[in-house]
Amino acid sequence: MVWGELVMNPQNGKGSARRKGANDKAYADNYDRIFGKKLDCPQCGEPTDQFYEGYCETCCEQNQRELDEHNASYDRWHGLSDEQRDLEIKRAR
Ligand SMILES: [Zn+2]
Repeated sequence: MVWGELVMNPQNGKGSARRKGANDKAYADNYDRIFGKKLDCPQCGEPTDQFYEGYCETCCEQNQRELDEHNASYDRWHGLSDEQRDLEIKRAR
């Protein structure tokens, strides 16, 4: 991540001078100005530093969970006999 290199760069002064708290916002704003690439997640619209498969990390994890659940029910469906499938379809109606 470029952030650490920027903060630790000796030309910027002491790397350890960075304080937590209010300064974080200023640093973040500077970061945005310098690198100018906050991304907006197309799913939740939240800004994110980085895309994970096209979404923010939260949405990516959520999508992955939903995919896992989908795959699990798909596998389960394929493990059923035709009779059991008929039964489930009738039950769903
Ligand atoms: Zn998102």
